[in-house]
This record gives sequence, structure tokens and C-alpha cells, in this order.
Amino acid sequence: MTGVPYFRPNISEEEIELVASSLASGWLTSGPRVAEFEKSFAEAVGAKYAIALNSCTAALHLALIALDVGEGDEVIVPTLTFAATAEVVLAVGAVPVLVDVLPDTLAIDFDRVRSAITPKTRAIMAMHYGGSAADMHAAVAIREENPQISIIEDAAHAFPTRHELGMVGSIGDATCFSFYANKTMTTGEGGMLTTNDPKVAEHVRRLSLHGLSRDAWARFETRSSWDYDIVEAGWKYNMTDAAGSLGIGQLARSAEMAQMRRDIAARYDNAFADVAGITPRNGGEPARNACHLYVVRVDKQKFGVSRSELIALLGDADIGTSVHYRPLHMHSYYTKTYGYEPREFPVAADAFDEIVSLPMFPGMTHDEVDVVVERILNAKAS
Ligand SMILES: *Cc1c(COP(=O)(O)O)cnc(C)c1O
Repeated sequence: MTGVPYFRPNISEEEIELVASSLASGWLTSGPRVAEFEKSFAEAVGAKYAIALNSCTAALHLALIALDVGEGDEVIVPTLTFAATAEVVLAVGAVPVLVDVLPDTLAIDFDRVRSAITPKTRAIMAMHYGGSAADMHAAVAIREENPQISIIEDAAHAFPTRHELGMVGSIGDATCFSFYANKTMTTGEGGMLTTNDPKVAEHVRRLSLHGLSRDAWARFETRSSWDYDIVEAGWKYNMTDAAGSLGIGQLARSAEMAQMRRDIAARYDNAFADVAGITPRNGGEPARNACHLYVVRVDKQKFGVSRSELIALLGDADIGTSVHYRPLHMHSYYTKTYGYEPREFPVAADAFDEIVSLPMFPGMTHDEVDVVVERILNAKAS
């Protein structure tokens, strides 16, 4: 029995061709392919504007600045998230105010968000854990009651994700997607910011290229003038045309790849339905979930084996796993800086002992799913 990797990239021949033709075209930096990718992505999520960047972290950073979050402001962040969601808040001189998550979905708990709001709160990082949408009804209601608060969606897991209010990418003030190697679609490294606000779009685009008055594509057009103005100090966060070409190809296959993920999730769900002590995370209605992660909780009392023991047993069988995430408040930086105790956010702390992310990627075969399931069921006996 061979092992199963946690993730395996899924790049088609057509996508390799697209990247090769882009390199051959002579456009190496942001050019026509990036423009095409942005247009198609905006259409796919139903947003007015999409700006391609070199990471989701860059998108989150610029979203904060464009929404006027800075020194001394507070931004509410779920503790169960990736490093970047809070680090960008620190990068603009604001304070990340952590809150707990919900036990079944592991998504940000908006009741906790409400209690964490102060006069200094300027934004909420709505993170769509695992690929299912956070409670955007609650997010929108909070924004309506508190006009000074912006909703920034960390949608690194959430393409394509649907919510009753629309596609993720069309709801918040700014939504940030990741095309990192192991996300639901990839450009190697890359990200996208979507918004319906023309001012935010224009500001983000300018900040992504040193704060210059026009973007590099326009600057190097044969007929354009050599002159530009530094309107404000910015960064270098733009996407290359080679990456944009890969994005165009991946986007065209995104519905098909999402369906493969949902099929895998359904097969796992079925297999674990009657297993005491293994509880799949509640990802809501399957058709709306991008299924970026397949997370189960392992209850040592009922299953007989702890989460950490299970990870070791799967590792022995060359089956890759991951944990999303050690909560931010249990990392030494946040403990030291803000004095958080592990029990301060008990739902996330309890989840951290029990969660494991199982292999999940488009192209994973049913046999591979069965190998993972079988090894887990055997763990109980061993
Ligand atoms: C991957 C990830 C990011 C960062 O994405 P990059 O494109 O690598 O910058 C941010 N937030 C979450 C929740 C992620 O999973």
C-alpha cells in the first residue's frame, strides 16, 4: 500500500502552454494576461473590480490601508487563522483583537465579534475557514450598525465559495484571495483583491506599484510618456504575466476542480458517518463550500487514539496531514505581546487538540481516499 500526500498540484498541459506562450510573448511583468485574469476573476465572483497581486498577504495589507485602517486602530481577527491575517494588522500599526470561533464550523464567532467592538474598531477580518463562508449576514448587520467598521474577507480558502448574499468576493468592502501553491487554484504565488468600491480599487492598484500615478503597463507602453508622479509611498505587490497566465487556465477549470474536491469530501463524510470519535467539521451546504480543507475532530475518549497519535500513525503509513491551525493566541509572539492565556479562547484551544486536516486535492483518487480512511479506521484497533 503506497502513501497519500497531503497535497499534489494539479496543472494541466494547457496551463503549461499558456505560461510558455506568455514567456515567449515578451511580457514578463504585469501585462495583458494579468488584465485578462483580473477581468475573468471579477466576473467569476460578481465583483466590480479585481486587482491581481503577488500574494493574499499583500491583498490583506493593501485592503487595510485602502480602508483607512492605521496606527492605534483595532481590527478583529479570529484566533484560528493563518499568521498573515493578523500580521498585516500589525504591519499598518493597528492592534489585532483576537476572538474565538464556533465549535462546529470553526469560523469566526460574530457574537464574540460584537462583544469585542470598541470605539477604536475599524475593521473585521472575516476569514472563511476551510472554504465555507463565515456568517456574512452577521458581518453585514454589524457594518450597518457601525459605519466606521469595514468588512475585510480573508478568502484564502474560499474560491469558489457561495453565500446567500452572493459569491464570496462580492460581499465585503474588500475580499482577499490566495493563489499560493496549495490553495484551491494557484498561480504558484499570487493573490487577488476584489471590491465594488472604485476608490478602494484605484488606491490598491496604485499602492501595489510604488504609489506611482500610473501602472507599469501604461508606463512602458510605446506611446506613453516617460513621466510619472509618486502620489504616495507604496509597495511592489503586482503579479507577473506568467502567473496571470496560469491563473487564467486554473480559473477556467475552477468549477471542475471544486467538484472534485466536493466529491472527495462526500466520500470522506460517508466513510466517517458512523465512526464514534471522528467528527468532520461542519462545512455547511456542500455545493457552497470550496472544500479547501477537509478537517475532522478526533475525540480521544470516544475514538481511543488522540489526534496527535493519529497524525503519527498516518505519517508511518506515508499519509500526509496538516493542522489548521495552532490558534494565534497560543503562539509565543501573541502570548508575550498581549498576555493571552490558552483558555482565553476555549473553543479554539479545544479544537487545537482535536483537529487534523486530511489529504484533499483535485486529482486525488477514490482509492487514495479509501487508503486514508482505512488507515484511520485501523488506528482505532491498533
Ligand atoms: C494561505 C493563507 C493566507 C496567505 O496567503 P498568501 O497568498 O500565501 O499570502 C492568508 N490567510 C489564510 C487563511 C491562508 O490560508
